[in-house]
Amino acid sequence: MKLSSESERLFKRAVTMIPGGVNSPVRAFTAVGGVPRFMSRGAGPHLWDVDGNRYVDLIASWGPLILGHAHPDVLAAVADAARSGLSFGAPTPLELDLVDEVQRRVPPVEQLRLVNSGTEAAMSAVRLARGATGRAKVIKFAGHYHGHTDSLLAQAGSGIATLGTPSSAGVTEAQTAHTIVIPYNDPAAVRAAFAEHGADIACVITEAAPGNMGVVPPAPGFTATLRQLCDEHGALLISDEVMTGFRLSPGGWFGLEGIAPDLFVFGKVMAGGMPAAAFGGRAEVMAELAPVGSVYQAGTLSGNPVAVSAGLATLRAAHDGVYTTLDENAARLCRLIDAALTRHGVPHRIPTAGSMFSVFFTTDPVPDFAAARATQTWRYPPFFHALLANGVYAPPSPFESWFVNVAMTDEDFTTIEAALDHAARHAA
Ligand code: PLP
Repeated sequence: MKLSSESERLFKRAVTMIPGGVNSPVRAFTAVGGVPRFMSRGAGPHLWDVDGNRYVDLIASWGPLILGHAHPDVLAAVADAARSGLSFGAPTPLELDLVDEVQRRVPPVEQLRLVNSGTEAAMSAVRLARGATGRAKVIKFAGHYHGHTDSLLAQAGSGIATLGTPSSAGVTEAQTAHTIVIPYNDPAAVRAAFAEHGADIACVITEAAPGNMGVVPPAPGFTATLRQLCDEHGALLISDEVMTGFRLSPGGWFGLEGIAPDLFVFGKVMAGGMPAAAFGGRAEVMAELAPVGSVYQAGTLSGNPVAVSAGLATLRAAHDGVYTTLDENAARLCRLIDAALTRHGVPHRIPTAGSMFSVFFTTDPVPDFAAARATQTWRYPPFFHALLANGVYAPPSPFESWFVNVAMTDEDFTTIEAALDHAARHAA
């Protein structure tokens, strides 16, 4: 494989023009070091960088591309929509088709509002929960990511159920003062938070099956406990399915676990690689939104016809067989990773949530963020770079999910198997 000389040249220039040279931090390879590859093209399961190197892509644009890159149905839908105009700032029939498709897959979504990013969707769902309950406090879990809205950029203070402190410069104590951050998969901590703050808690927001601290699935019964405690205390449950939605099953994590929250947050797959997202759920709660109710929320490009067309084409092409293939591809990949790491004596765990998984270098269980951070993360950079050098584009951080697509072929698995042998040796 050629050295990434053009990527290096571009990155050198990029860092003078764009902070860190990237428009979203994890792209900068901060956790693994080295120069991010500048991509020029994607087709099916592959990406090509500007130096002409081909990679089997196991990131899928951070989740959206379950069908692979440049799927012909999605491209055709986007081209058709674009020919009719890029944006109207007025309702279109396409929006109804997309909402229909979401409701068919996730029946508890009685009403949906389209927005432009997962960040916006989560931020708006929390505002709605506060407006609908007249309460201020929000429970979130350490290691869960719901986008970069101020009140959710909070980390745990000391103690088990404490008010959050800002996890980013520029977020004030006041903005996180009503955010309670507790460890994931710890029912006692959630109970303690409700016991102390119950009457003030507007909502619990949780990643349906977390992928942003690496994949850490909910322990059996944990989501049910959240549902029960919210019901007992008159709080709303918000399930963030931005990553899991329409990927893990036709109905996302809800389709697998079956516990209905009051509000869902969606993004990624539902927009097929374009910028769109949504939040929705019980009609009675959604009726609090403007222009019907008094919770304000709006967007110049919300429901954009080109983005909606990409999402609709993706969901229409994602029939049941697609989900079987995603599961099979993920299971096959996990077997290959497990075999290579075992062969080279590297301690590891590969937790899965449907077809999402991640690779932790540890033999201990990983139920929460503290445990994820305590893994042998120093093994990850050499593992990652050996994969990259051998044509496999894996997440550049151990705290991310890997994302398969349905376009992967036997040839890709052969490439991956060979690359994994090098990678496991480097991680040993
Ligand atoms: N929620 C979850 C679970 C996510 O994984 C992400 C992004 O990765 C977001 C929200 C934010 O979405 P966006 O990056 O579209 O703002």
